[in-house]
Amino acid sequence: MERFRYFEDVVSLEFDKDKCIGCGLCAIVCPHGVFALTRDHKAQMTARNQCMECGACMRNCPALAITVEAGEGCVRGVINELLGIEGPCC
Ligand code: SF4
Ligand code: SF4
Repeated sequence: MERFRYFEDVVSLEFDKDKCIGCGLCAIVCPHGVFALTRDHKAQMTARNQCMECGACMRNCPALAITVEAGEGCVRGVINELLGIEGPCC
């Protein structure tokens, strides 16, 4: 997934560690492995710039600890590339 890396520090993804209850859902649902659980049972962003703003983590977080401006542009781009569909999508 390295080739899908976003530009540095432009992603809208934000995480509030104080709200995190350590359920681990964000790490499970993220297709790019942006989140991981730490030993103190809190989520941690380990690869923030790989976020494609799909919104899955935010929608599944029971503690409302994650916010992201989810859109379809980059997600569609990834799917199109996987399917071999060329042309502008974002
Ligand atoms: S928005 Fe999608 S890609 Fe970004 S961290 Fe959340 S689940 Fe991962
Ligand atoms: S889904 Fe939310 S509460 Fe669960 S580990 Fe991730 S940030 Fe923490």
